[in-house]
Amino acid sequence: MGRYTGPVCKLCRREGLKLYLKGERCYTDKCAFERRPYPPGQHGPTARIKFSDYGLRLREKQKVKRIYGVSEKQFARYFEMAERQRGNTGVNLLILLERRLDNVVYRLGFASSRREARQLVNHGHIMVNGHVVDIPSYLVDVGDVIEVKPSSRDMDRIKAALEGVARRGIPSWLELRKEEFKGIVKDMPKREELTTPPIQEQLIVELYSK
Ligand code: SF4
Repeated sequence: MGRYTGPVCKLCRREGLKLYLKGERCYTDKCAFERRPYPPGQHGPTARIKFSDYGLRLREKQKVKRIYGVSEKQFARYFEMAERQRGNTGVNLLILLERRLDNVVYRLGFASSRREARQLVNHGHIMVNGHVVDIPSYLVDVGDVIEVKPSSRDMDRIKAALEGVARRGIPSWLELRKEEFKGIVKDMPKREELTTPPIQEQLIVELYSK
């Protein structure tokens, strides 16, 4: 199955928490989850869902997949890569997802959501180490320099996104040079900084280990 392209607020309501998929809107009272914090569908606020153990693990996987906006196939591939690496598979998986170029563009504040970041990358507005990279799944490494292409720095949406970066904060493994529209990968992503929304990666490992 490909990437979900329907209304994203439904995904937050389905998962029962804010996934911050819509950029600035997520921080306002227009947030659909704030207004209707129950699953979408005809049963409305009375809907009660009791998950089996399998269901709980499946939901956790769906949640992470939706946060990073990756397809089922891509997610399974990341899991295989994470398994082959040393250390905790669940943490490896989250670190791989964090290293995606679209995520880094979002984290640096060049876009207000990962969706928007993916679009910026796809449209060739982002450079890595001086070259345009238009592959959102590109995995950044320590020392990489990510920047907005000089001819794209006047784009209103990029400027607006950078305005909101103070609210979200920049993770410690990245350094933003806002005036230069540039970011540097100082370190590998840190698991302890991935707390919003909360993720139980062990449940995903258990799901794939069945
Ligand atoms: Fe929509 Fe963002 Fe609220 Fe989720 S957190 S329901 S994406 S506005």
